[in-house]
Order: sequence, then structure tokens, then C-alpha cells
Amino acid sequence: MLTTLSFQAPCIEMKELNNLWFNITGFTCNLKCRHCYLSCSPSNKSRKFLNMEKVKNALNEVNKSKLEEIYLCGGEPLLHREINNIIRLCIKHTNVTILTNATLINDKKARFLRQIELDSDYEIIFRVSLDHYKEHKNDEVKGKGSFKKTMSGINNLVNSDFNPIITAVNLWGEDDEEFRRGFFELLSQFDIEFSEINLKILPAIKTGEYRANFCTYNENELVTSESFKNTSPEKFDCANTRVITDDGVYVCPALINDPRGRVGENIRDASSKFFLELNTCYSCQCANSKLFNNEWRS
Ligand code: SF4
Ligand code: SF4
Repeated sequence: MLTTLSFQAPCIEMKELNNLWFNITGFTCNLKCRHCYLSCSPSNKSRKFLNMEKVKNALNEVNKSKLEEIYLCGGEPLLHREINNIIRLCIKHTNVTILTNATLINDKKARFLRQIELDSDYEIIFRVSLDHYKEHKNDEVKGKGSFKKTMSGINNLVNSDFNPIITAVNLWGEDDEEFRRGFFELLSQFDIEFSEINLKILPAIKTGEYRANFCTYNENELVTSESFKNTSPEKFDCANTRVITDDGVYVCPALINDPRGRVGENIRDASSKFFLELNTCYSCQCANSKLFNNEWRS
């Protein structure tokens, strides 16, 4: 239900589309995490997979000289039957980041994807979600057995010379430094040097399953014009990002499950302006850095 706003929300105008996201598997995922803000699961078929035609159309519409990165997300993007063709198509234009839980990446798949990368001028970057460095804690939110499968996927990626970024939400409220240290100790078993750039700790987005299993936003957790004075619009992903879904274009990956995040049918017609009037925007303000895009390019 839409509510009437009683405050003035600041507006961000996208000057340039640098980060193009494709939500290729809707909300379908092979896992069912207790904190998934999109409520993805094996049975969530509420949005169709994106077909190749729509990927091609979007790529034809964007100014490719301005693209810095293409992102493939879901749900779990590796569930898409045409994932290899989608990657091949996207990597002709720029680097491709794949957001995955890595549970479906066996040795053969990792080697195959590495070959796609070697055949192109750009990189494939993996962002792998693993929520805790201890198996039992990770599995209590991501499902029994998921830790071992994700670790195996990371191992396969590393063996194929990929350098994955691990993403986690600190659901346990652990001390930030300890949380990071735990991950670095865990990752030291791999034959690769993990640095700060390999670990992206994300704040919770309190919608979907997170709202159902933990909590949601307070009504005063909003971005107001006053609070916006101390931050820079460039810190928000929506300043240079749009997401292509089967149901049109959305302003950012956090809002692809909210009709208020839909900004148009296609890139050409999509609105470049967005009012930060949703509670979810408050997570971006608190993070004070990009939640979704790879930060080293911003
Ligand atoms: S958090 Fe990621 S891995 Fe977990 S259900 Fe959602 S999309 Fe799947
Ligand atoms: S959730 Fe964040 S990125 Fe999305 S529109 Fe709001 S401020 Fe922008």
C-alpha cells in the first residue's frame, strides 16, 4: 500500500548510467536464506527469468562508452539456462560481476567461465555471499550444508585463477574488526592473497525475509533533506545504476521487489530521477558507501 509522505525526500538524478544490472533469474534461488531481503527461494517464481532478447535490447539502448560494469544477479543467476551466453554477450562490452552463492560452481563450471574470460578483453568478477566464517552460524541463516558448498565453490573459483569478493551481513552484531578477522582467517586456507577489497560487509536491508525473521525499519528511518545535507549523492548506487528485470527497469538492486522502485519499461524511457522516500534508502544513507556496486571503480 502506498502511503502519503509527510516529509520532503531528497531526489537523486542519474547523470550517467555506469552500472547496468540484469536481474536474470527473478527471485528464484537454490537457497532460502532467512535474511534475504528479496525473499528469494527455489519456489519463488513471482518474476520470470530474463530472456536473451531483453538483455540484447537493453545493451542496444545504453550508451556503452559510459558503462563501467555489468552485474548479473537474481536470485541465483547461475540457475539461468543461458547464463554462459548472457556472460559472453555482456563481456563484449565491459567487466561482468556475478552475484552468486557459489554453491553451483563445480570445478568444470569454474574452468569453463575462466575460458570465457580469457577469450575476452574484460574480467569476470565473482561476488560470493557467505554470511559467517563459522559453518554453523552461516548455515543457521543460509541453510544446512550451504557453507560447505559455498566453500567448495570458492575453492573452484580460486583454482581457476578467479579472485572472488566475499559478501556478508553481520547478523550477529559482532565487532566489525573481529568479524573481518574471522573471514580473513577462514580465507587464508585458499591459495590466494585476500585483501580488504575481497571482503564486502553489507548492512542489512530490512525487507522480505529479513523483515519476517528479524525486524524492519522504524518509521523515522528515512532519508530526509536535512539528513541528506551531510552526505554525497555519489555515495548512493542509484546515482549511476539501473536494473533490467523481466518486469521493466528498476532504480537499484534493493528495490526490484517494490513497485515504487520501477522507473520505466525500458532504459530509453526510464526516469533518471528518483526520490529517496523509501525506508530502504535509509540503509544506503547509513552505509555511506555504495551497497551494491564495486567500489573501486566509483
Ligand atoms: S540471500 Fe542470496 S543466496 Fe540467499 S536466498 Fe537470497 S539470493 Fe539466494
Ligand atoms: S535504496 Fe539506495 S540505491 Fe536504491 S534508490 Fe534508495 S538510496 Fe538509491
